Amino acid sequence: MQTDSDIAIVGGGLNGPALALALAGAGFSVTLIDAGPAGARGQAGFDGRAYSLAAASQKLLTVLGVWEQVAESQPILDVVASQGRAGEGASPFFLHFDHAELDDGPMGWMVEDRHLSAALSTVLDATPAIRRINDTAVTGQDIGPAGVALSLSSGTTITARLAVGCDGRRSGVAERAGIHRSGWSYEQTALVCAVTHEHPHQGAAHQFFMPGGPLAILPLPGGHRSSIVWSLPTRDAEALKLLDDAAFLEVLRPAFGDFLGDIALAGGRFSYPLSLSLADHYIRPRLALAGDAAHGVHPLAGQGLNIGLRDVAALAEVLAEAHRRGEDPGTLPVLGRYERWRRFDATALALGMDGMNRLFSNGNPLLAAMRGAGMGMVQALPPLRRAFMREAAGLGGDTPRLLRGLPA
Ligand SMILES: Cc1cc2nc3c(=O)[nH]c(=O)nc-3n(C[C@H](O)[C@H](O)[C@H](O)COP(=O)(O)OP(=O)(O)OC[C@H]3O[C@@H](n4cnc5c(N)ncnc54)[C@H](O)[C@@H]3O)c2cc1C
Repeated sequence: MQTDSDIAIVGGGLNGPALALALAGAGFSVTLIDAGPAGARGQAGFDGRAYSLAAASQKLLTVLGVWEQVAESQPILDVVASQGRAGEGASPFFLHFDHAELDDGPMGWMVEDRHLSAALSTVLDATPAIRRINDTAVTGQDIGPAGVALSLSSGTTITARLAVGCDGRRSGVAERAGIHRSGWSYEQTALVCAVTHEHPHQGAAHQFFMPGGPLAILPLPGGHRSSIVWSLPTRDAEALKLLDDAAFLEVLRPAFGDFLGDIALAGGRFSYPLSLSLADHYIRPRLALAGDAAHGVHPLAGQGLNIGLRDVAALAEVLAEAHRRGEDPGTLPVLGRYERWRRFDATALALGMDGMNRLFSNGNPLLAAMRGAGMGMVQALPPLRRAFMREAAGLGGDTPRLLRGLPA
C-alpha cells in the first residue's frame, strides 16, 4: 500500500512534535496533525506556565536539536521537600537533594511552555521529512491490513503505515480504537501562576506538602521569578479563583512563607482539574498512544511530560530498529516491544505519584509522623538520597537511547 507518509501523529502539543522529530531523525516520513493553529503557544507572552524537565529529557531535546533553540531555561540545583501547614510555612521535617551529589550536573531544568513550544516549532519547520497540518482535527480512523486512513475535519484523508495518538488525556485516537481508560478524579485542582520575589531563589525548587495538597515553588530564569503549582481541594480552588489578584496573594503569602522575601503576582492565573487517567492498552494494529494520551498523572512531582518523553524515546527506538531490519512499523510484533517497555513503567510511576498524593495531602497526625520519619530516613542515608535523585533526573531503569543523549 502506498501511503502519504510512513507515520501520522495526531496531536501537536509537546510529545507529538518531539516524536515527529525523533522519527524523522530515524529516517521516517511523518505527518503531524493538530487541531490548533501552528506556533500559537510559542507566541504567547510570559504567563508563568512552565515545566520541570528531568536531566534525561533535556538530553533528548538536545539530540533532537530543540534544546539549542530554547530561548531561556533555569537549572534546578536543589530540591527541598517539606511538610507544611498553611500559616506555619515548612516544618522541620524536610528532604534536601543537592545536585552536587550527582555526577551528571543539574537534576533538571525549568522551561516555560512558550519557550519549549517555540523551540519545537522552529525545528519542525526546518525538518523536510515532517509535514505539518494545523487548524485541522482528526475526526475518524480506518484501520486496514497494510495501513491506516485518518479522516480530517477539512474533508481530506491522510494515510500512513502507523498512526500515533499524542492527542492528550481525552485521546480521540484511543476512544475510536475502543481503548478503555482507568482512573479517577483527585477532587483537587491545580492553581498555576508565577510570582516575582525579593530574594534570589538560587536555583532551588521547593515542594511543601500541605494537608489540602502540595504547593510547588519552581525557579524561573533571572533569579527573582518562580512558577507556582498549588494543588488544592477543588472547592477551595474554586473559591480562590473568584478572588482578585490582591486577595489571592493574601491567601498565597502565608502558605508560601517568607523565605524569598515579599512576593508579587507576575503573569496570568490558570487552573487545571486533576485526575489520573491510564489507557488500558498502548497499542492496536497500526496504532500507538504516547504522552498524556497513554497516561495522565498528578503533577505533584512534575513528571507528566518527562514520562511522555520517555514514551517518545522508547517508541522512536523500537521503530528505528524495525526500520533498520526492514520490518513494517505498524504491526503488532513491532508495537508490542514498545508497549512492554513502557506500560508497566508508566503505570508504576503514575500510581507512585497517586500514593504520594494520598499520603501527603492528608491531615492525619499518624500519617504526618510516618511522613516525617520517612523523610528523615531518606535525608540521613546518602546512597538512598542519591538513588532518589537519579530517578528524578530520569537516569534510572531501562533508559532509552535518546534519554542518554544518543540518537534513536
Ligand atoms: C498544573 C500542571 C503542571 C504540570 N507541570 C509539569 C512539569 O513541571 N513537568 C512535567 O514533566 N509535566 C508537567 N505537567 C504535565 C504536562 O503538562 C503534560 O504531561 C504534557 O503537556 C502533555 O503533553 P501531550 O503533548 O501529551 O498532550 P497535550 O499537551 O494535551 O497535547 C495534545 C494535543 O493534541 C491536539 N488534539 C487533540 N485532539 C485532536 C484531534 N482530534 N485532532 C488533532 N489534534 C488534536 C490538541 O490540540 C493538543 O495540541 C503538568 C501538568 C499540569 C496540569
